[in-house]
Amino acid sequence: MFRISQYMRDLAAAERDGAYPAVRHTRPSGPVVIWNLIRRCNLTCKHCYALSADHDYAGELSTAEVFTVMDDLKAYRVPVLILSGGEPLLRPDLFEIAARAKAMRFYVGLSSNGTLIDAAMADRVAAAAFDYVGISLDGIGAVHDRFRRQAGAFDASLGAVRELLARDVKVGLRYTMTALNAGELPALLRLMRDEGAQKFYFSHLNYAGRGNIHRAKDAHFAATREAMDLLFDTAWADAHAGIDREYVTGNNDADGVYLLAWVRQRLPRWHGALRQHLQAWGGNASGVAVANIDNLGVVHPDTMWWHHSLGSVRERPFSQIWADESDALMAGLKRRPRPLQGRCADCAALAVCGGNTRVRAQQTSGNPWAPDPGCYLDDDEIERAWAGAERPLPLPA
Ligand code: SF4
Repeated sequence: MFRISQYMRDLAAAERDGAYPAVRHTRPSGPVVIWNLIRRCNLTCKHCYALSADHDYAGELSTAEVFTVMDDLKAYRVPVLILSGGEPLLRPDLFEIAARAKAMRFYVGLSSNGTLIDAAMADRVAAAAFDYVGISLDGIGAVHDRFRRQAGAFDASLGAVRELLARDVKVGLRYTMTALNAGELPALLRLMRDEGAQKFYFSHLNYAGRGNIHRAKDAHFAATREAMDLLFDTAWADAHAGIDREYVTGNNDADGVYLLAWVRQRLPRWHGALRQHLQAWGGNASGVAVANIDNLGVVHPDTMWWHHSLGSVRERPFSQIWADESDALMAGLKRRPRPLQGRCADCAALAVCGGNTRVRAQQTSGNPWAPDPGCYLDDDEIERAWAGAERPLPLPA
């Protein structure tokens, strides 16, 4: 996850104080665990990685098994559990699991489509004291309904946002950009502001592009750059005004390099300091700082690697599975730098991006260490972003 707001706040502080904040050194702990507790979902969205449907799936972890895994996760110093699905609110013991997770002092997030959160359910979610609830929105009104394949889904999800915010629950809008909803981003950012939601999660589609030839002309890459410019400008305006809204992105670590390019042009005197911070972040964290457990208890390097099993928590504790580097993919993901090939291996900004999303390389070429076909930056641009040559542009108002 790339935390745009964190860097924008540092830049705003640097502009105000004349000094860039020190690099944050965080103690290493266990990974953030995204836990798909249930595969069943009341919707059948077009871009669902879990390919969920509205029926029960056999063999899912029992409450007792979930609790056993939680004990192991706590001992392994996992700090964050994101309870997801399917639609996690369809799991009858969801609130029991959430209560135990809170009692064990995990940071507990809930990832929902929102359609089941009416006033009564919002009371239960608020009482459960989730640290954060993410509600997925693909666009406004009919656009969202088309993606979710259900008339009225947008109204129901927006209703959930309002019910939760009315109860002081921290709410984020989760948006996955595709070619069919790229134009919805400005309206969703306005919606976030108008409704008072605290967070916006922008997920890049795991889009493979068309290889290395026409990066600058690729329509999806052009839309991606436009979206990132808007996110950066919006996050900068908030940070500059001291407004505490969060903007984060996922599934494309080249965003860090693109932020370096943004700063090179707009705030060049902080380019070097930002580069240090971005190197400390290090880019892609699949298999290292982020983990996934699916509904059957199978562990994966992240949610996009459901076709790659690292083992089941029914057979071995998560802590053993995660530390086991006999799996070649995990061994490679944990290496720094990763055993990359081609333009990612030779990339000037590798220390910031970390080689990006390996699953895209694997799915398009069969080789997880091949260049990421979803990188939307060309080589010259990356070199300039890294080197920080100055060519100032005016800051957004
Ligand atoms: S070329 Fe590879 S390492 Fe460099 S920015 Fe693009 S995805 Fe990241």
